[in-house]
Amino acid sequence: MNYCPGLGYSQGVTTAGTARDTTTRTGPGAARQHTLRERNLELVARAVFEVPEPLSRAGVAAATGLARATVSTLVDQLVAARLVRELPAVTGGRAGRPAVPLVPAPRSVVGLGLEVNVDYLGVRVLDLTGDVVSERVVPGALHDSDPAVVLGRLGELAREVTDGVAASGMTVAGARLALPGLVDPRTGLLEVAPNLGWSSLDPVPLLGLGDLAVRIANEAKLAALAELAGGSDVAAPDSFIFVSGDVGIGGAVVVDRALFLGERGWNGEIGHVVVDPAGPRCSCGAFGCLEQYAGKEAMMRAAGLPPDSPLAALVARLAQTGAAAGGAQALPAGRALGSALADFVNLLDVGTIVLGGAYAELLPWLRADVEAVLADRVLAAPFVDLHVRAAQAGPHAALTGGAREVLRAVLAAPAAWV
Ligand SMILES: [Zn+2]
Repeated sequence: MNYCPGLGYSQGVTTAGTARDTTTRTGPGAARQHTLRERNLELVARAVFEVPEPLSRAGVAAATGLARATVSTLVDQLVAARLVRELPAVTGGRAGRPAVPLVPAPRSVVGLGLEVNVDYLGVRVLDLTGDVVSERVVPGALHDSDPAVVLGRLGELAREVTDGVAASGMTVAGARLALPGLVDPRTGLLEVAPNLGWSSLDPVPLLGLGDLAVRIANEAKLAALAELAGGSDVAAPDSFIFVSGDVGIGGAVVVDRALFLGERGWNGEIGHVVVDPAGPRCSCGAFGCLEQYAGKEAMMRAAGLPPDSPLAALVARLAQTGAAAGGAQALPAGRALGSALADFVNLLDVGTIVLGGAYAELLPWLRADVEAVLADRVLAAPFVDLHVRAAQAGPHAALTGGAREVLRAVLAAPAAWV
Protein backbone atom coordinates (compact mmCIF):
# COMPACT_ATOMS: atom_id res chain seq x y z
CA MET A 1 0.00 0.00 0.00
CA ASN A 2 1.59 3.23 -1.09
CA TYR A 3 1.19 6.15 1.29
CA CYS A 4 3.71 8.36 -0.45
CA PRO A 5 4.39 11.35 1.81
CA GLY A 6 4.46 13.60 -1.26
CA LEU A 7 0.71 13.24 -1.66
CA GLY A 8 -0.10 15.32 1.38
CA TYR A 9 -2.40 18.24 0.81
CA SER A 10 -2.05 19.74 4.23
CA GLN A 11 1.65 19.26 4.86
CA GLY A 12 3.31 21.84 7.00
CA VAL A 13 0.09 22.49 8.89
CA THR A 14 0.22 21.85 12.62
CA THR A 15 -1.78 18.78 13.54
CA ALA A 16 -3.83 19.61 16.60
CA GLY A 17 -4.10 16.73 19.01
CA THR A 18 -1.63 14.32 17.40
CA ALA A 19 -1.74 11.11 19.34
CA ARG A 20 1.73 11.28 20.91
CA ASP A 21 4.04 14.05 22.02
CA THR A 22 7.34 13.82 20.18
CA THR A 23 9.13 16.69 21.91
CA THR A 24 11.31 14.76 24.34
CA ARG A 25 14.60 16.43 23.47
CA THR A 26 16.97 17.30 26.28
CA GLY A 27 19.83 19.10 24.49
CA PRO A 28 21.34 19.84 21.10
CA GLY A 29 23.12 16.46 20.89
CA ALA A 30 20.01 14.62 21.98
CA ALA A 31 17.96 16.63 19.53
CA ARG A 32 20.27 15.65 16.68
CA GLN A 33 20.15 12.02 17.70
CA HIS A 34 16.40 12.16 18.13
CA THR A 35 15.90 13.74 14.74
CA LEU A 36 18.16 11.19 13.08
CA ARG A 37 16.21 8.35 14.66
CA GLU A 38 12.93 9.92 13.54
CA ARG A 39 14.20 10.25 10.00
CA ASN A 40 15.49 6.68 9.94
CA LEU A 41 12.17 5.40 11.27
CA GLU A 42 10.42 7.25 8.48
CA LEU A 43 12.80 5.75 5.90
CA VAL A 44 12.18 2.24 7.20
CA ALA A 45 8.41 2.76 7.34
CA ARG A 46 8.40 4.06 3.77
CA ALA A 47 10.46 1.10 2.60
CA VAL A 48 7.95 -1.30 4.12
CA PHE A 49 4.86 0.56 2.91
CA GLU A 50 5.85 1.59 -0.58
CA VAL A 51 7.13 -1.59 -2.15
CA PRO A 52 4.86 -3.90 -4.13
CA GLU A 53 6.40 -7.06 -2.62
CA PRO A 54 7.20 -7.40 1.11
CA LEU A 55 10.82 -6.82 2.11
CA SER A 56 12.75 -8.57 4.86
CA ARG A 57 14.97 -6.65 7.30
CA ALA A 58 17.88 -7.28 4.92
CA GLY A 59 15.77 -5.96 2.04
CA VAL A 60 14.90 -2.82 4.00
CA ALA A 61 18.60 -2.30 4.80
CA ALA A 62 19.44 -2.58 1.09
CA ALA A 63 16.59 -0.28 0.09
CA THR A 64 17.39 2.43 2.64
CA GLY A 65 21.20 2.17 2.85
CA LEU A 66 20.94 1.88 6.63
CA ALA A 67 23.00 -0.62 8.65
CA ARG A 68 21.34 -3.97 9.17
CA ALA A 69 21.47 -3.67 12.98
CA THR A 70 19.89 -0.19 12.86
CA VAL A 71 17.12 -1.46 10.60
CA SER A 72 16.47 -4.39 12.91
CA THR A 73 16.06 -2.11 15.94
CA LEU A 74 13.77 0.27 14.07
CA VAL A 75 11.67 -2.56 12.62
CA ASP A 76 11.26 -3.97 16.14
CA GLN A 77 9.95 -0.57 17.22
CA LEU A 78 7.52 -0.34 14.29
CA VAL A 79 6.28 -3.86 15.01
CA ALA A 80 5.80 -3.00 18.71
CA ALA A 81 3.91 0.15 17.66
CA ARG A 82 1.61 -2.06 15.53
CA LEU A 83 2.43 -0.20 12.33
CA VAL A 84 4.32 -3.13 10.79
CA ARG A 85 3.64 -6.85 10.99
CA GLU A 86 6.01 -9.77 10.48
CA LEU A 87 4.80 -12.61 8.28
CA PRO A 88 5.96 -16.20 8.87
CA ALA A 89 9.60 -16.70 7.87
CA VAL A 90 10.33 -17.99 4.39
CA THR A 91 13.48 -19.82 3.38
CA GLY A 92 15.24 -19.53 0.07
CA GLY A 93 17.26 -16.39 0.64
CA ARG A 94 21.02 -16.25 0.39
CA ALA A 95 22.81 -18.92 2.47
CA GLY A 96 19.37 -20.43 3.07
CA ARG A 97 18.78 -18.16 6.02
CA PRO A 98 15.03 -17.68 6.62
CA ALA A 99 13.75 -14.18 5.89
CA VAL A 100 10.82 -12.58 7.68
CA PRO A 101 8.67 -10.52 5.26
CA LEU A 102 7.46 -7.21 6.66
CA VAL A 103 4.03 -5.84 5.74
CA PRO A 104 1.71 -3.01 6.84
CA ALA A 105 -0.12 -4.13 9.97
CA PRO A 106 -3.78 -4.93 9.31
CA ARG A 107 -6.53 -3.73 11.66
CA SER A 108 -4.23 -1.95 14.09
CA VAL A 109 -3.81 1.80 13.53
CA VAL A 110 -6.65 3.11 11.35
CA GLY A 111 -7.69 6.38 9.70
CA LEU A 112 -11.20 7.85 9.72
CA GLY A 113 -12.75 9.59 6.71
CA LEU A 114 -15.86 11.72 7.29
CA GLU A 115 -17.98 13.54 4.74
CA VAL A 116 -20.92 15.89 4.55
CA ASN A 117 -22.31 16.11 1.06
CA VAL A 118 -25.59 17.58 -0.12
CA ASP A 119 -27.32 14.21 -0.34
CA TYR A 120 -25.45 12.00 2.13
CA LEU A 121 -23.35 11.72 5.26
CA GLY A 122 -20.47 9.26 5.22
CA VAL A 123 -18.01 7.58 7.57
CA ARG A 124 -15.27 5.18 6.43
CA VAL A 125 -12.39 3.57 8.32
CA LEU A 126 -9.29 2.33 6.48
CA ASP A 127 -6.44 0.34 7.94
CA LEU A 128 -2.78 0.52 6.98
CA THR A 129 -3.19 -2.17 4.33
CA GLY A 130 -5.77 0.04 2.58
CA ASP A 131 -8.70 -2.22 3.51
CA VAL A 132 -12.03 -0.70 4.45
CA VAL A 133 -12.56 -1.84 8.04
CA SER A 134 -15.96 -0.24 8.55
CA GLU A 135 -18.24 2.32 6.91
CA ARG A 136 -21.65 3.97 7.05
CA VAL A 137 -23.22 6.09 4.33
CA VAL A 138 -26.62 7.60 5.10
CA PRO A 139 -28.70 9.46 2.48
CA GLY A 140 -29.89 12.93 3.40
CA ALA A 141 -31.42 16.10 1.95
CA LEU A 142 -29.06 18.71 3.26
CA HIS A 143 -29.71 21.79 1.11
CA ASP A 144 -29.72 24.89 3.32
CA SER A 145 -29.40 22.73 6.42
CA ASP A 146 -28.50 23.54 10.02
CA PRO A 147 -24.79 22.75 10.42
CA ALA A 148 -25.12 21.99 14.14
CA VAL A 149 -27.78 19.35 13.45
CA VAL A 150 -26.03 17.83 10.45
CA LEU A 151 -22.54 17.74 11.98
CA GLY A 152 -23.97 16.46 15.27
CA ARG A 153 -25.58 13.58 13.35
CA LEU A 154 -22.34 12.85 11.48
CA GLY A 155 -20.51 12.86 14.82
CA GLU A 156 -22.98 10.27 16.16
CA LEU A 157 -22.42 8.06 13.11
CA ALA A 158 -18.66 8.43 13.54
CA ARG A 159 -18.87 7.45 17.20
CA GLU A 160 -20.93 4.35 16.40
CA VAL A 161 -18.30 3.30 13.86
CA THR A 162 -15.23 4.16 15.93
CA ASP A 163 -16.66 2.52 19.08
CA GLY A 164 -16.94 -0.71 17.12
CA VAL A 165 -13.46 -0.31 15.71
CA ALA A 166 -11.97 0.42 19.14
CA ALA A 167 -13.79 -2.57 20.64
CA SER A 168 -11.89 -4.71 18.11
CA GLY A 169 -8.59 -3.38 19.46
CA MET A 170 -7.89 -0.81 16.72
CA THR A 171 -6.63 2.73 17.35
CA VAL A 172 -8.12 5.62 15.37
CA ALA A 173 -5.22 7.91 14.50
CA GLY A 174 -7.36 10.88 13.49
CA ALA A 175 -9.96 12.00 10.97
CA ARG A 176 -10.41 14.14 7.88
CA LEU A 177 -13.77 15.80 7.30
CA ALA A 178 -14.58 16.29 3.60
CA LEU A 179 -16.84 19.24 2.80
CA PRO A 180 -18.30 20.45 -0.54
CA GLY A 181 -16.96 23.98 -0.46
CA LEU A 182 -14.05 26.30 0.23
CA VAL A 183 -12.18 25.17 3.33
CA ASP A 184 -9.12 26.68 4.95
CA PRO A 185 -7.09 23.84 6.47
CA ARG A 186 -4.88 26.40 8.28
CA THR A 187 -7.68 27.92 10.31
CA GLY A 188 -10.05 24.94 10.24
CA LEU A 189 -12.81 27.16 8.85
CA LEU A 190 -15.33 26.32 6.17
CA GLU A 191 -15.60 29.62 4.30
CA VAL A 192 -18.58 28.70 2.13
CA ALA A 193 -20.47 25.63 0.92
CA PRO A 194 -23.19 27.09 -1.36
CA ASN A 195 -25.39 24.01 -1.70
CA LEU A 196 -25.41 23.33 2.04
CA GLY A 197 -26.05 27.03 2.66
CA TRP A 198 -23.15 27.06 5.16
CA SER A 199 -20.59 29.83 5.53
CA SER A 200 -17.93 31.11 7.96
CA LEU A 201 -18.18 28.00 10.07
CA ASP A 202 -15.86 26.12 12.44
CA PRO A 203 -17.26 22.63 11.81
CA VAL A 204 -15.03 20.37 13.91
CA PRO A 205 -16.40 21.27 17.39
CA LEU A 206 -19.92 20.59 16.10
CA LEU A 207 -18.99 16.94 15.49
CA GLY A 208 -18.57 16.45 19.24
CA LEU A 209 -15.75 13.95 18.81
CA GLY A 210 -13.78 15.11 21.85
CA ASP A 211 -10.01 14.60 21.66
CA LEU A 212 -9.96 12.96 18.24
CA ALA A 213 -7.79 15.03 15.88
CA VAL A 214 -10.10 16.08 13.04
CA ARG A 215 -9.03 18.28 10.16
CA ILE A 216 -11.13 19.54 7.30
CA ALA A 217 -10.55 19.38 3.56
CA ASN A 218 -12.36 19.93 0.28
CA GLU A 219 -14.28 16.90 -0.92
CA ALA A 220 -12.94 16.89 -4.50
CA LYS A 221 -9.33 17.30 -3.35
CA LEU A 222 -9.59 14.25 -1.09
CA ALA A 223 -11.34 12.25 -3.82
CA ALA A 224 -8.52 13.18 -6.23
CA LEU A 225 -5.98 11.90 -3.69
CA ALA A 226 -7.89 8.62 -3.45
CA GLU A 227 -7.79 8.45 -7.25
CA LEU A 228 -4.08 9.18 -7.32
CA ALA A 229 -3.44 6.20 -5.08
CA GLY A 230 -4.65 4.07 -7.99
CA GLY A 231 -7.20 1.33 -8.40
CA SER A 232 -6.47 -2.35 -7.98
CA ASP A 233 -5.94 -2.88 -11.70
CA VAL A 234 -5.39 0.57 -13.24
CA ALA A 235 -2.62 2.98 -12.26
CA ALA A 236 -3.57 6.63 -11.95
CA PRO A 237 -2.09 9.02 -14.51
CA ASP A 238 0.64 11.33 -13.19
CA SER A 239 -1.32 14.45 -14.12
CA PHE A 240 -5.06 14.83 -14.43
CA ILE A 241 -8.04 17.10 -13.89
CA PHE A 242 -10.41 15.42 -11.45
CA VAL A 243 -14.08 16.36 -11.50
CA SER A 244 -16.44 15.14 -8.83
CA GLY A 245 -20.02 15.32 -10.09
CA ASP A 246 -22.68 15.20 -7.42
CA VAL A 247 -25.35 17.77 -6.53
CA GLY A 248 -22.47 20.22 -6.61
CA ILE A 249 -19.51 19.78 -8.93
CA GLY A 250 -16.04 19.96 -7.42
CA GLY A 251 -12.66 19.76 -9.05
CA ALA A 252 -9.00 19.18 -8.33
CA VAL A 253 -5.86 19.46 -10.38
CA VAL A 254 -3.05 16.92 -10.04
CA VAL A 255 0.27 17.71 -11.70
CA ASP A 256 3.20 15.28 -11.50
CA ARG A 257 1.44 13.27 -8.78
CA ALA A 258 0.85 16.23 -6.48
CA LEU A 259 -2.23 18.37 -5.98
CA PHE A 260 -1.91 21.79 -7.55
CA LEU A 261 -3.81 23.96 -5.08
CA GLY A 262 -3.58 27.61 -6.09
CA GLU A 263 -2.80 30.14 -3.37
CA ARG A 264 -5.25 28.91 -0.75
CA GLY A 265 -6.37 25.49 -1.98
CA TRP A 266 -9.53 27.00 -3.44
CA ASN A 267 -8.97 26.23 -7.11
CA GLY A 268 -10.89 23.67 -9.15
CA GLU A 269 -14.35 25.19 -8.63
CA ILE A 270 -15.52 24.01 -12.02
CA GLY A 271 -19.14 23.82 -10.86
CA HIS A 272 -19.23 27.62 -10.93
CA VAL A 273 -17.73 28.05 -14.37
CA VAL A 274 -20.40 29.82 -16.42
CA VAL A 275 -21.55 27.87 -19.45
CA ASP A 276 -24.43 30.25 -20.32
CA PRO A 277 -24.56 33.79 -18.86
CA ALA A 278 -28.30 33.87 -19.62
CA GLY A 279 -28.87 30.62 -17.71
CA PRO A 280 -30.66 29.96 -14.41
CA ARG A 281 -29.48 31.33 -11.07
CA CYS A 282 -27.01 29.13 -9.18
CA SER A 283 -26.70 28.49 -5.42
CA CYS A 284 -23.58 30.72 -5.55
CA GLY A 285 -25.64 33.68 -6.77
CA ALA A 286 -24.30 33.78 -10.33
CA PHE A 287 -26.22 32.78 -13.45
CA GLY A 288 -25.68 29.83 -15.77
CA CYS A 289 -23.04 27.94 -13.76
CA LEU A 290 -22.16 24.41 -14.86
CA GLU A 291 -23.95 23.00 -11.78
CA GLN A 292 -27.24 24.24 -13.17
CA TYR A 293 -26.79 21.95 -16.21
CA ALA A 294 -24.61 19.08 -15.07
CA GLY A 295 -25.15 18.85 -11.30
CA LYS A 296 -26.95 15.69 -10.23
CA GLU A 297 -30.24 17.45 -9.50
CA ALA A 298 -30.14 19.31 -12.81
CA MET A 299 -29.55 16.02 -14.65
CA MET A 300 -32.51 14.43 -12.82
CA ARG A 301 -34.80 17.32 -13.74
CA ALA A 302 -33.72 17.20 -17.37
CA ALA A 303 -34.61 13.50 -17.42
CA GLY A 304 -38.06 14.23 -15.92
CA LEU A 305 -37.19 12.71 -12.53
CA PRO A 306 -37.55 14.20 -9.03
CA PRO A 307 -34.28 16.01 -8.24
CA ASP A 308 -33.50 13.84 -5.22
CA SER A 309 -33.85 10.56 -7.13
CA PRO A 310 -31.08 8.01 -6.69
CA LEU A 311 -28.54 7.73 -9.46
CA ALA A 312 -29.86 4.28 -10.36
CA ALA A 313 -33.17 5.90 -11.35
CA LEU A 314 -31.40 8.09 -13.90
CA VAL A 315 -29.48 5.12 -15.29
CA ALA A 316 -32.76 3.17 -15.55
CA ARG A 317 -34.44 6.11 -17.29
CA LEU A 318 -31.61 6.34 -19.81
CA ALA A 319 -31.98 2.63 -20.55
CA GLN A 320 -35.78 2.96 -20.74
CA THR A 321 -35.68 5.83 -23.21
CA GLY A 322 -33.26 3.92 -25.35
CA ALA A 323 -30.50 6.51 -25.00
CA ALA A 324 -27.57 4.73 -26.49
CA ALA A 325 -24.51 4.47 -24.32
CA GLY A 326 -21.80 6.15 -26.34
CA GLY A 327 -24.35 8.14 -28.33
CA ALA A 328 -24.46 11.92 -28.45
CA GLN A 329 -27.17 14.01 -26.74
CA ALA A 330 -28.12 11.22 -24.30
CA LEU A 331 -27.81 13.71 -21.45
CA PRO A 332 -27.98 17.48 -21.99
CA ALA A 333 -25.30 17.72 -19.27
CA GLY A 334 -22.67 16.35 -21.63
CA ARG A 335 -22.13 19.43 -23.77
CA ALA A 336 -22.18 21.78 -20.77
CA LEU A 337 -19.62 19.62 -18.98
CA GLY A 338 -17.48 19.45 -22.11
CA SER A 339 -17.60 23.23 -22.42
CA ALA A 340 -16.40 23.85 -18.84
CA LEU A 341 -13.74 21.15 -19.19
CA ALA A 342 -12.48 22.71 -22.40
CA ASP A 343 -11.88 25.95 -20.50
CA PHE A 344 -9.94 24.03 -17.86
CA VAL A 345 -7.79 22.23 -20.42
CA ASN A 346 -7.13 25.47 -22.31
CA LEU A 347 -6.03 27.12 -19.05
CA LEU A 348 -4.06 24.28 -17.49
CA ASP A 349 -2.64 22.15 -20.31
CA VAL A 350 -3.52 18.92 -18.51
CA GLY A 351 -4.88 16.45 -21.04
CA THR A 352 -6.35 13.68 -18.89
CA ILE A 353 -9.75 14.21 -17.33
CA VAL A 354 -10.99 11.83 -14.64
CA LEU A 355 -14.72 11.97 -13.95
CA GLY A 356 -15.80 10.89 -10.48
CA GLY A 357 -18.91 10.92 -8.31
CA ALA A 358 -22.08 10.33 -10.33
CA TYR A 359 -20.15 10.98 -13.56
CA ALA A 360 -18.17 7.76 -13.14
CA GLU A 361 -21.36 5.78 -13.67
CA LEU A 362 -22.88 8.15 -16.24
CA LEU A 363 -19.79 8.43 -18.41
CA PRO A 364 -21.12 6.08 -21.12
CA TRP A 365 -23.88 8.65 -21.77
CA LEU A 366 -21.66 11.70 -21.38
CA ARG A 367 -18.54 10.69 -23.22
CA ALA A 368 -19.53 11.40 -26.83
CA ASP A 369 -20.64 14.97 -26.08
CA VAL A 370 -17.74 15.75 -23.74
CA GLU A 371 -15.19 14.49 -26.26
CA ALA A 372 -16.85 16.30 -29.15
CA VAL A 373 -16.81 19.65 -27.33
CA LEU A 374 -13.21 19.13 -26.18
CA ALA A 375 -12.20 18.41 -29.77
CA ASP A 376 -13.96 21.59 -30.93
CA ARG A 377 -12.89 23.96 -28.19
CA VAL A 378 -9.46 22.94 -26.90
CA LEU A 379 -6.96 24.86 -28.99
CA ALA A 380 -4.33 22.15 -28.62
CA ALA A 381 -6.75 19.32 -29.47
CA PRO A 382 -5.24 18.60 -32.93
CA PHE A 383 -1.77 18.21 -31.39
CA VAL A 384 -2.34 16.23 -28.20
CA ASP A 385 -4.29 13.21 -27.01
CA LEU A 386 -7.08 14.21 -24.68
CA HIS A 387 -8.28 11.38 -22.44
CA VAL A 388 -11.57 11.21 -20.59
CA ARG A 389 -11.90 8.34 -18.13
CA ALA A 390 -14.08 7.24 -15.23
CA ALA A 391 -12.67 7.46 -11.72
CA GLN A 392 -11.41 4.17 -10.29
CA ALA A 393 -11.54 4.98 -6.57
CA GLY A 394 -15.16 3.86 -6.14
CA PRO A 395 -18.18 5.56 -4.57
CA HIS A 396 -17.70 8.32 -1.99
CA ALA A 397 -13.99 8.50 -2.79
CA ALA A 398 -13.46 11.52 -0.50
CA LEU A 399 -13.99 9.18 2.47
CA THR A 400 -11.17 6.98 1.22
CA GLY A 401 -8.96 9.98 0.46
CA GLY A 402 -9.57 11.41 3.93
CA ALA A 403 -8.79 8.18 5.78
CA ARG A 404 -5.66 7.73 3.66
CA GLU A 405 -4.48 11.25 4.49
CA VAL A 406 -4.67 10.41 8.20
CA LEU A 407 -2.58 7.28 7.67
CA ARG A 408 -0.14 9.13 5.42
CA ALA A 409 0.48 11.55 8.29
CA VAL A 410 1.09 8.61 10.66
CA LEU A 411 3.68 7.13 8.32
CA ALA A 412 5.31 10.51 7.66
CA ALA A 413 6.09 10.75 11.39
CA PRO A 414 6.08 7.19 12.75
CA ALA A 415 8.26 8.19 15.72
CA ALA A 416 5.11 9.59 17.35
CA TRP A 417 3.79 6.04 17.56
CA VAL A 418 6.81 4.13 18.90
ZN1 LIG B 1 -22.50 28.87 -9.24
